[in-house]
Amino acid sequence: MRRYIIVGTGAAGISAAEAIRCHDPQGNILLISEEKDGYYSRPGLAYYLTGEITERQLYPFSERDFRRLNANRKHVRAVRIHTQAHQLVLGDGELLSYDRLLIATGAMAAPVKTPGAQLAGVAKLDNLEDARCILKQAHKGHSAVVVGGGITALEIVEGLAEHGVKVHYFLRGDRYWGNVLDEVESHIVEHRLIEEGVQIHYQTELVEILGKRGRVAGVRTKDGRQVKCDLVAIAIGVLARKELAEASGLQTERGILVDEFLQTSDPDVFAAGDVAQVFDPASGKALLDSLWGPAREQGSAAGCTMAGLQTPYYKRTPFNVTRLARLTTTIIGSIGGGRDDDVLGIVRGDSEAWRQIPDAIAAQSDFDVNHLRVLVGEHTLVGAILMGDQTLSLPLQHLITDRVDITPIHERLLQPKAPVADLIADFWTEWRGQHAA
Ligand SMILES: Cc1cc2nc3c(=O)[nH]c(=O)nc-3n(C[C@H](O)[C@H](O)[C@H](O)COP(=O)(O)OP(=O)(O)OC[C@H]3O[C@@H](n4cnc5c(N)ncnc54)[C@H](O)[C@@H]3O)c2cc1C
Repeated sequence: MRRYIIVGTGAAGISAAEAIRCHDPQGNILLISEEKDGYYSRPGLAYYLTGEITERQLYPFSERDFRRLNANRKHVRAVRIHTQAHQLVLGDGELLSYDRLLIATGAMAAPVKTPGAQLAGVAKLDNLEDARCILKQAHKGHSAVVVGGGITALEIVEGLAEHGVKVHYFLRGDRYWGNVLDEVESHIVEHRLIEEGVQIHYQTELVEILGKRGRVAGVRTKDGRQVKCDLVAIAIGVLARKELAEASGLQTERGILVDEFLQTSDPDVFAAGDVAQVFDPASGKALLDSLWGPAREQGSAAGCTMAGLQTPYYKRTPFNVTRLARLTTTIIGSIGGGRDDDVLGIVRGDSEAWRQIPDAIAAQSDFDVNHLRVLVGEHTLVGAILMGDQTLSLPLQHLITDRVDITPIHERLLQPKAPVADLIADFWTEWRGQHAA
């Protein structure tokens, strides 16, 4: 009977366990996690913060699902792998033997080195416990400073604003998420935040968190201003949790380096999810993703290979549906290209592939609060961002992922003031009609 150990029970770890169980009904699977809350939806934390969903609704798996998986669970930290001996060392000193091991330890919020970062009232949003902690401090009439230019910072801003907290939002640059959004899109988000009462401080850098009796009392900015507040939340990017791999002598860069089979530098140790830096043949680079979908896909591919069914993972066109300032936003393929000084590397719910634009020209249209931008390559669409109305979300996903030849509308898309949305909708209807059979 083969012994499998999976370290980390997030999207990647659970998906790997499901794949293993599917191909090896007898194998012994042990799931190890240091997080007491187990498997829940991290993207769902944004909706939990605003009160739209309850804690219970964050859990995709029931106890019955776990029983069906027939895996043992241990709540402890894994500290080292003796790869030669095929043993895992746990934080309580226990040694466990394995035949195949998966590291799916995820990523964590990049820490701030600012003086005062240890004060009570300094928050981050990595996990459910952090969300509970933010909610406990989100009192009506209190004020907060939120720092960071990506999705997570915005989720915290919105969660706090929803609970009546006066929010000061610090951006180091002159607009929101400049790495991925263009100016129009950044301004749509900023405008909506201002309407919600959020005060945005552009080109503002936090240099010190000020305290009183061990608690946050305010902050000091680089240009010498002081802002009083009761809470400081920081979301400036995420770092892969590669410490277990490093302690075990596995090859790492920004994440754990893996080949297309999610295999690390040791053939019996695999890595998947936010912690894995996966070779991407399209760009020729080893990239990080911080997205739920790829974490599940990587976990599944790794699980199959671990169970003996060699299964390569090929990075798909990155796709994410999120919400920016209450505006449903879908991002598909490559749309970015800028540099964003607000975030350190990658942010939650982000793919490095978004930022790499091949030769492409942008075409865009706005309709009321809705916005659509597509990146037009030589014969195909290479990326799109859709804010608000999501009618074209699915068609665009197909057109971009399947690299559909858009030559018939190519010229018209690039005309000034082209009705981009209508052109794509009409093209899609015709294309689907021809390919329906
Ligand atoms: C607030 C927030 C918003 C997000 N929004 C989106 C979004 O809109 N769209 C999207 O696609 N993605 C989003 N994400 C990202 C998405 O949740 C992650 O990409 C996904 O959860 C990664 O799964 P994973 O299995 O790699 O790691 P994780 O889910 O992070 O799980 C890793 C687990 O391993 C445990 N662990 C770490 N080290 C050890 C150790 N040494 N021993 C034992 N256990 C250990 C950790 O405690 C954790 O429980 C968001 C994430 C957050 C936090």
